[in-house]
Amino acid sequence: MSIRSDRARAILPGGVNSPVRAWNGVGGEPVPIASAQGSRVTDADGRDYVDFVGSWGPAILGHAHPTVVQAVQEAAARGLSFGATTEREVELAEEIRGRYAPAERVRLVSTGTEATMTAIRLARGATGRDVIVKFAGCYHGHSDALLVAAGSGLATAGVPESAGVTAGAAADTLVLPYGDEDALTAAFAEHGARIAAVITEAAPANMGTVTPPRGFNRLIATLCRNEGAVFIVDEVLTGFRAGPAGYWGVERDLDIAAGIEPWQPDLVTFGKVIGGGMPVAALGGRTDLMEQLAPLGPVYQAGTLSGNPVAVAAGLATMRLLTEDVYTHIGRLADALAAGVSAAFTDAGVTHAVGRAGTLVSFFLGLEHSPVTFDQAAVQDTQAFASLFHSMRESGVYLPPSAFETWFVSHAHTDADVATAVDAAAAWAQSQG
Ligand SMILES: *Cc1c(COP(=O)(O)O)cnc(C)c1O
Repeated sequence: MSIRSDRARAILPGGVNSPVRAWNGVGGEPVPIASAQGSRVTDADGRDYVDFVGSWGPAILGHAHPTVVQAVQEAAARGLSFGATTEREVELAEEIRGRYAPAERVRLVSTGTEATMTAIRLARGATGRDVIVKFAGCYHGHSDALLVAAGSGLATAGVPESAGVTAGAAADTLVLPYGDEDALTAAFAEHGARIAAVITEAAPANMGTVTPPRGFNRLIATLCRNEGAVFIVDEVLTGFRAGPAGYWGVERDLDIAAGIEPWQPDLVTFGKVIGGGMPVAALGGRTDLMEQLAPLGPVYQAGTLSGNPVAVAAGLATMRLLTEDVYTHIGRLADALAAGVSAAFTDAGVTHAVGRAGTLVSFFLGLEHSPVTFDQAAVQDTQAFASLFHSMRESGVYLPPSAFETWFVSHAHTDADVATAVDAAAAWAQSQG
């Protein structure tokens, strides 16, 4: 096993192509994954686990869903890439708008990083302003302006921000504590005329899962509208995952039930689920803003593999299988997982808090209250999490290898899978006395 890791490290920096895969947050030697099917992954040593990583969200139907695999195989046989528009990309964009009305126009890209980077450029181009407001602990991909106080990957590495981001790129990014209405209002009072955009995760899920304080997204929307700034909601993780219309849809339904007019984002970014495990992401939003993009407008954006036909086939097949029943099932199992693991911890006297946002779940060991800000999330007991991670792995459960990540439940998970996870968490908790 370690020969394999040495071999990987001799060619890939840290042995990986994305930092969290190196297990720096939990220690130990990551074993390569060989295959995955339904709710399970199998590593290169042939060990099989109930998987709560789900490729960090895309595997919402479970791994290698036969309909999705067939769509990919058929698309591949028709040609891997044309560098021209296809009918399927139009259909995928329509599928997105049909579920998420604020995405009046859609541009497909390949990664969430590209989607948020383009959203920032578009907001700056449309407003003629420079300043971006983001919240500590929210991750928006690894473009320079957004790689400041950016949650999970950086939190795990123990660095506030990346080297190589120029002071200039960071200077126009104002970082505020998440959920802090006073800080946000004060920032607009002081810098309002210079703020091009506020970007936030619809619900933060890259510092563990955080429930947005009710009214916080609405306040951002109101301040942006009043001050002429663009409200960018990042649903790369939450989109079509936290609920059928992302976390925006969760709040929309609460607002409608309460008789309040739902708030609206100006721009929204998607990724993860909309590619069904292949590289598809998207920027969507108000027509007048989106039509500022090239070739209609002056804001440039392009991609050789944007809307790639094989990737789009996976995304489209996935989206079309996402019925109300899928979300009901995932929601029920997420509730059972949250309640079961929490009860196991409580029974064993393990201090913890549960993070929830729609169907998303995570656990914060050592915290009495569910955190809202990154400072609150950051003081969770990461050593205890590392111990939990390895213990659950021994029990056949594959968790995200960082305390700052969400645990992903898919439609392929069963009550038995949740019971396996709850039993594994209980076994660890009992050993902690
Ligand atoms: C994953 C993620 C991104 C970045 O997407 P990539 O496809 O990894 O570039 C951006 N924003 C959020 C909220 C994410 O969770």
